[in-house]
Parts: sequence; C-alpha cells; structure tokens
Amino acid sequence: MRREAAGVSYRLRRSPRARRLRLVLDGDGMPLVTLPARAPARLADDFVASRREWIGRQRTRFEAQRERHVARGPLGSGGSIELSGQSHRVEVCVLQPGRRTRVEHDDRLAPLIRVWLSPVDDRPLSSILEAWLRREARSAVHRRVAARAPQLGVSPAAVAIRDQRTRWGSASRTGRISFSWRLVLAPPAVLDYVVVHELAHLAVFGHSAAFWELVRSVSPETDRARRWLREHARELHWSLETADAMTSEA
Ligand SMILES: [Zn+2]
Repeated sequence: MRREAAGVSYRLRRSPRARRLRLVLDGDGMPLVTLPARAPARLADDFVASRREWIGRQRTRFEAQRERHVARGPLGSGGSIELSGQSHRVEVCVLQPGRRTRVEHDDRLAPLIRVWLSPVDDRPLSSILEAWLRREARSAVHRRVAARAPQLGVSPAAVAIRDQRTRWGSASRTGRISFSWRLVLAPPAVLDYVVVHELAHLAVFGHSAAFWELVRSVSPETDRARRWLREHARELHWSLETADAMTSEA
C-alpha cells in the first residue's frame, strides 16, 4: 500500500511475522515500512516523518549509485564491469565450434575482460561472468586470508564464498567464515578490510570496542572501507544487471 507522511511517499507492508516496525529503502529507492499485522498505520506515518532526514540521505546515496550504474551502460560486448574497483571493458568473441567458453582477464593495454564464447553456450553473459567472478573471488579471498590470519593469530576452519544479499561476510563460532563473491568487484583495500573483519571475529565475537580496536590495528583503512561499502553496496548488487533493466524498474 502506498502512503505519504510529511511529504514523503512510502510503501507500507504488513507482516504477521514482524515484531516491530522496520524501515528500509526498497529495491527501487522507495522507502518501505514493514508493520506488525495489527499495528495502526499511523505508527508508520509518524515513524517516516521522524526519519525524514535519514530517508533523504539514503535516497541521495541511492540516486548517486543509480546514476553511476546507468552511465555504465548495458552489460554486453563493449559494456563494462568493475573488477578490483576498476572499470573493465567487456569484449565477447565467438569461438570456433567444438571449443569451450572461457574468460580472460587482460590488463596489458587497458583493463579488459574477454569472454571467449562457445557457439553452443546459450547461458546469458551475466551467468558466464558471475561463474568466473566467483572463482576470481575465491582466489582473491583465499590470498587475503592467508596473509591476514597469521597477523591476527587465528586460523579459520573453513572459508566459503557466497552471495548474501545483506552481508559482505560472516563468521561462526565454529571458526567458519564466509564472504560475498561481489567483494571482488570492490577495491582491494575493501575486500581486505572485510577479510580482516571476519578473521577478527574468530578472536573477538560481537562488535565491542575491543573488536574494533583489533580490526583497526591490522587494517588502518577500516573507516574508509566501511564508507565505501555504504556508498557502493547497491552497485555491487546491480553489477551484472543491465542498466536498461534498472531504469525501467524505477
Ligand atoms: Zn562483524
């Protein structure tokens, strides 16, 4: 349901599972309030009105990311994607029959990702690139873990690569850590910070002052990396969608 409060349009959704009110920016940048099933809608209005400035800041951040994403152009041959925080042109070359699709990263002349496409491969380009980026992420994360774990005096039981929507990394009490493959799109210092963050959880659970002190002692880029993630989170999630789809969704 669409509502308005203090000049701010927002969506209202009711959930029988919601215990309290929740406010997020929806996929298209519109504020979305989730209310417990029987709470009065007026609560949502009041909350949206009280959070007007926060909503304004979130929308500014959203629009900046959407503009950069749209400017990037559609994904395809001649388009581009970010890798290690740097824009790479994507080039697709169709192979002779009988040869298998492979992806090549070639920065000799200019940052370039070349997809050698088998003529019988009917996967969309986004799937081919995602499969390749996941492998790249795995080796980049493993390299950082190998470098950082001894500095923190920890050794993870297992390292996994995932695609979590809301988290860049996680750590379990059993010593398992996992990371979003999308971190490979971000600047190396950002991926390194998330690796340090999750490894530090193997020494200190929770986000106490002691935890942050440990993270900052090993990763001086902590604050800059966290800010970068806040400002670019959506772009990382949109990276393999086409800019055209983004505009029509808005
Ligand atoms: Zn944490």
